Amino acid sequence: MKLETACIHAARDKSHSTGAVAVPIYQSATFAHPCVGQSTGYDYSRTQNPTREHVEKIVTALEGGAGACAFASGMAAIATLMELFVPGDEIIATDDLYGGSIRYFNEISVKNGIIIRYIDTSDIPAVKSAITDATKAIFIETPTNPMMKVTDIAAMKALIGDRDILLIVDNTFLTPYFCNPIALGADIVTHSGTKYLSGHNDTLSGFLVAKTPELAERLHYLKNAIGGVLSPFDAFLVTRGIKTLAIRMEKAQQNALVIAQWLKTQPKVTAIYYTGLPEHPSYALTRQQARGFGAMISFSAGSVEIAHNILNKTELILYAESLGGVETLITYPITQTHAAVPEAERLARGIDDRLLRLSVGIEAVEDILCDLERAIGR
Ligand SMILES: *Cc1c(COP(=O)(O)O)cnc(C)c1O
Repeated sequence: MKLETACIHAARDKSHSTGAVAVPIYQSATFAHPCVGQSTGYDYSRTQNPTREHVEKIVTALEGGAGACAFASGMAAIATLMELFVPGDEIIATDDLYGGSIRYFNEISVKNGIIIRYIDTSDIPAVKSAITDATKAIFIETPTNPMMKVTDIAAMKALIGDRDILLIVDNTFLTPYFCNPIALGADIVTHSGTKYLSGHNDTLSGFLVAKTPELAERLHYLKNAIGGVLSPFDAFLVTRGIKTLAIRMEKAQQNALVIAQWLKTQPKVTAIYYTGLPEHPSYALTRQQARGFGAMISFSAGSVEIAHNILNKTELILYAESLGGVETLITYPITQTHAAVPEAERLARGIDDRLLRLSVGIEAVEDILCDLERAIGR
């Protein structure tokens, strides 16, 4: 089954007595048992719920994993994931991670005795020299947020070899439609399903997908023990969102390429970060490990005044945090997504007061360009 078909049909339940085409919302906290020692397969909705199980099966199929767990948000997924580790464990993490992941690692994981070493994971020798006997995982985000640096997933796997180190990939930006990290060697894939998977800026969700049944079982255990699970109604919304993932990703990417090319012609724009531009340093690597480039663009305005002008003057494009929905959003990383990152660290990574990030939506590209043109001014 092709991916775009799997988005719609991967978890169809043929045993369903009513013939319902859409998954029912099983809004039930608990499930009655037929008799002593028997279960319908469902006991209590924190452990499992049929609507949540349905979306977990779809995401498992799309990522080519052995199993998936659905959470109330991407951060709930990452928080649960971090419970795989014990005090003293070292984790190598991409230095340009989503700000919320950095906050979690620095404020919570560190308190729990886990040592996080931030490395530019696009630099393979740097990762190699950071691995120690205590390294238990390499956590990468690719392309990164917001600087669009790309990590070679298969090269990370090759570095790990047969060592007992989990390769974890946050695949939120490319989605399984464009990239399947498990096929490239990842052990666990994380998602903020709030973004492209749901796709409509209307629900939070998160996923962990495991390569092996053993790892999937361990994650299900932690999910049930910790309890940050996806509600039945939100599971229904994510299922519905995923049905149109393929056409949304294609259209958003098509728009993003046009916008990135147009930004290049703008004298008030001094730098553009989009992996789909052939001059991007990781264009070739992206083509090698992914089927597309996605629709996230960062760019630098010539001055802080120009940056503020753009944020204040766009009308169609909404000035809002988040990404991956049908609406085009513009973000100011310095005050929004990356406000929790210490200033020195932020500046070292190029996240300054002139940097803006666009999550390109699926509107007519002419309308997005018209809005940007008016906001940037001549
Ligand atoms: C948004 C995001 C998260 C966190 O997900 P929430 O659903 O907001 O909790 C994690 N990683 C990346 C790359 C994200 O964009």
